[in-house]
Amino acid sequence: ERLIGGAAQSDDTRHDSAIRPDRLNEYIGQRGAREQLEIFITAARQRQDSLDHTLIFGPPGLGKTTLANIIAGEMGVDIKSTSGPVLEKAGDLAAMLTNLQPGDVLFIDEIHRLSSAVEEVLYPAMEDFQLDIMIGEGPAARSIKLDLPRFTLVGATTRAGLLTSPLRDRFGIVQRLEFYGVDELTEIVTRSSRLLSLEADEAGAREIARRSRGTPRIANRLLRRVRDFAQVRGDGRLDREIADQALNMLNVDRCGMDHMDRRLLTTMIEKFDGGPVGVESLAAAISEERDTIEDVLEPYLIQQGFMMRTARGRIVTRSAYLHFGLSPGDDVPESESD
Ligand code: ADP
Repeated sequence: ERLIGGAAQSDDTRHDSAIRPDRLNEYIGQRGAREQLEIFITAARQRQDSLDHTLIFGPPGLGKTTLANIIAGEMGVDIKSTSGPVLEKAGDLAAMLTNLQPGDVLFIDEIHRLSSAVEEVLYPAMEDFQLDIMIGEGPAARSIKLDLPRFTLVGATTRAGLLTSPLRDRFGIVQRLEFYGVDELTEIVTRSSRLLSLEADEAGAREIARRSRGTPRIANRLLRRVRDFAQVRGDGRLDREIADQALNMLNVDRCGMDHMDRRLLTTMIEKFDGGPVGVESLAAAISEERDTIEDVLEPYLIQQGFMMRTARGRIVTRSAYLHFGLSPGDDVPESESD
């Protein structure tokens, strides 16, 4: 497994309960989303109503699941969690829906992976709090309708564009999470160190933050590995020197890139003269899935300005050449930061 992969690994989940924020005021960064949700939650509570269905999208590890749990906590209701691939049949979703108490949050992670049969059941449930399902097959088949309690669906997905439009249209609240800045990640690392009873100075926390690809899950994971290093090779405290040594040993470079990122960029430079190159050709050249490039590798590299997506394909920027100590030709563009 990739040390700097955004997706959850078993080691993350095992340590999660100690450091996952469970209140909105402990949720660091994402000011826009936090401010809006605070208003919507307060308003819903004042009306003694359930919160509108909420869609949260953004790359893995940015805090979608955390936010879903916080929403339930702030609303003072229970959360029932599942995910798109787990809900195989319409009946699986019906079972979850009929198990909800009034006001509860139903959290569906990877909601873009619902089958169309399951999605069909979700529409009337979201819209009219009605369960409308066929049971049985052939001549004995019949449709049953049930009233459901008002509930809040919180859906999470990596890219909003992956959702069908009828599903997307049924969310009243849509929040996009952004990669975190170094200051915010420093705050997250500092908070996690405190909860793990690890003595850490600001520069040490910042060194981990800089190399965490804008992603709290990665920051927390790197913190655990640096803590091991500090315990064995240092005096148990986290400072800049120890963080730097540990992360160098783990092959996470100063920009938070590992061998996969470096291979993607150097392949573009060496085999495709910097691009433009189509994502399929790139996938073949580095023997990775197209989805891995689009979901895992390129969002961070684009956000950092090392590559760009254009109508004609992917291209690397001047910063990428410079990162590898290469001199870019005159036609190599600067990144257009957004
Ligand atoms: P996602 O569902 O987007 O993949 P998670 O919600 O599971 O991500 O977040 C991964 C971990 O990162 C959480 O366990 C939590 O400890 C930490 N985390 C995420 N967002 C924040 C935040 N805003 N402040 C502090 N820690 C966070």
